[in-house]
Amino acid sequence: MHFLVVDDSSTMRRIISNTLKKIGYSNITEAEDGKDALSKLDGSINIVITDWNMPNMDGLEFVKQVRSGPYKAVPILMVTTNAAKDDVIQALKAGVNNYVVKPMTPETLEEKVNAILK
Ligand SMILES: [Mg+2]
Repeated sequence: MHFLVVDDSSTMRRIISNTLKKIGYSNITEAEDGKDALSKLDGSINIVITDWNMPNMDGLEFVKQVRSGPYKAVPILMVTTNAAKDDVIQALKAGVNNYVVKPMTPETLEEKVNAILK
């Protein structure tokens, strides 16, 4: 299972990657913004975990680009501080499969990842 973890915060990337490793997933590619992520997304990626607020290309635009590109079927989990209902709706409309509000516990992340992979 190959994960693409996208966040402009290296600390957050590390937290997410460490959580994934703890639950048994060690094949992880990291990207620091949507643009970087698009360049790293290929057919080997099984699931994307992305932040929303990032420079260059934010998570929402990234999701829209993915959903109109060659790897449009890849599951996407958005992990963000944007907790407003309208934000969640906007993200779901853009095509995210699930949504986690930061800060989250490792258990919540695990739960959402497992739900997506089911
Ligand atoms: Mg951010």
